[in-house]
Amino acid sequence: MTVKIDRTKPEFDLETAVIVVGAGAAGLTAALAARDAGAEVLLLERDPVARGSTCMSQGFVCAAGTSLQAERDIEDDADRFYEDIMARTRGQADPVLARAVAENSGRAIDWLKDRHGIPFVMNISWAGFFGHSVNRMHGVPSKRGEELHGALMRAAEEAGVDVITGAHVDLLYADADDRVTGVRVQRTDGSVEKVGCDALVLATCGFGANEEMVKEFIPSFGTASYYKYFGHEGNEGEGIQWGRELGGALGSMDAFQGYGALAGAYGIIVNYDILMRGGITVNTEGKRFSNENLDISAQSLNVLRQPDGIAWIIFDDARRELVQDLPEFQDLTKLGAFKTAATVEELAEVIKVPAGALRETLDESRRLAAGEGSCPFGRDFTLNPPLSEGPFHAIQTTGALFHTQGGLKVDGRAQVLREDGTVLPNLFASGGTAESISGNHCDGYLPAAGLCMAVTLGMLAGDAAAKLNED
Ligand SMILES: Cc1cc2nc3c(=O)[nH]c(=O)nc-3n(C[C@H](O)[C@H](O)[C@H](O)COP(=O)(O)OP(=O)(O)OC[C@H]3O[C@@H](n4cnc5c(N)ncnc54)[C@H](O)[C@@H]3O)c2cc1C
Repeated sequence: MTVKIDRTKPEFDLETAVIVVGAGAAGLTAALAARDAGAEVLLLERDPVARGSTCMSQGFVCAAGTSLQAERDIEDDADRFYEDIMARTRGQADPVLARAVAENSGRAIDWLKDRHGIPFVMNISWAGFFGHSVNRMHGVPSKRGEELHGALMRAAEEAGVDVITGAHVDLLYADADDRVTGVRVQRTDGSVEKVGCDALVLATCGFGANEEMVKEFIPSFGTASYYKYFGHEGNEGEGIQWGRELGGALGSMDAFQGYGALAGAYGIIVNYDILMRGGITVNTEGKRFSNENLDISAQSLNVLRQPDGIAWIIFDDARRELVQDLPEFQDLTKLGAFKTAATVEELAEVIKVPAGALRETLDESRRLAAGEGSCPFGRDFTLNPPLSEGPFHAIQTTGALFHTQGGLKVDGRAQVLREDGTVLPNLFASGGTAESISGNHCDGYLPAAGLCMAVTLGMLAGDAAAKLNED
């Protein structure tokens, strides 16, 4: 797909102050911020019903220094979050961006909750921090991205944002100085409209659904025969390409969040809590092959490197009780996705792995949980009680690409930067369209950083876009 920039100035059908493209968490938050700053805002979404990757998510947002953390006496602040980002990415994250996100994420959550009624709560059941040094996991009560997205949509409508769905932006108009003058919109009924603007916020997410871009920028995934994308299909990277065409710089383009526990046959994620609380992953030879709990994102590649690119997550009744209320687990249970067997031998037969190897793997996990010996992959099994002698449950999983982390380089107020460090006149990027704070490749992703980027940069972008002409 080639995106287009038209350098002529057309007769616009309509003019507005701020246009936001894409109605996921990033676009909706940007639109809310622009409205709060007093601007007229038009939010254009290509799908007839807005969903985005935001609706596929679990709605978790990491953020530091929130009032919700304070209520629980969790000590956290921007400095601590910044240090965690830099440690997780081994110093690869853009320090200006990391600082801006660390300093504004808490404000974004408090603002969305207190001013716009987004029902954020702390997620205290999340058992692993994976690089966060404290619990800064916020979410919505249902633990479903749909609830977060629905609340943002309602807030945008109440705030007076004009949300137009079935409105695919397919071309930008810009002048010789790379100032965006407007956009062209293809409506689902085939009609075309041209809308002028003073400032544009790109919130079209990343490029996970664009196979060519994935092959170009993330060859470890894109060129493999097992390449599987599990994010929103509309994330074709148009925003990133427009920004690039206008002279915007790109950053961290090889970075992505993978997930090593996708129940591929059902298109539903297996809650990682099962593994964090003592479950194990084996390959088709009945053997463990990784420290399951080292890195959720990088586990995607560990799984995909196994025979047939698949693995089995194995757990017992005690683990099942701990996670049975989680929405995805309930969905998978209703679909009969879990295989259950009374003994190791029966389980091996059901999932077609060698019984001897599976028994040895389970016996070893119990020895490790009792503190005997050390895990060859470095996992600390003593953190959880050992797996029982049965019954067992198992589910087949694969690794997947959830969302890309590279994108347009932005400054501390989400304005798109050129290679020389100057800003493009009136272009902003948010959420998956902007470079993230995940460094390079797949192991720098901090849990819930995707929506953190969406709401934090969304708030900054919308506010700055609305105030552009005040400068
Ligand atoms: C299964 C899954 C679970 C996840 N769980 C979490 C989680 O719990 N926490 C977390 O932080 N992150 C999570 N993520 C990542 C998170 O969903 C994304 O980082 C986040 O939703 C990005 O928000 P966004 O607004 O940038 O993109 P999106 O929500 O994808 O919104 C982009 C929108 O732009 C629209 N669009 C694209 N191009 C155009 C165009 N040309 N014209 C008009 N509209 C256009 C798309 O249709 C889409 O609606 C998860 C991802 C997946 C796939």
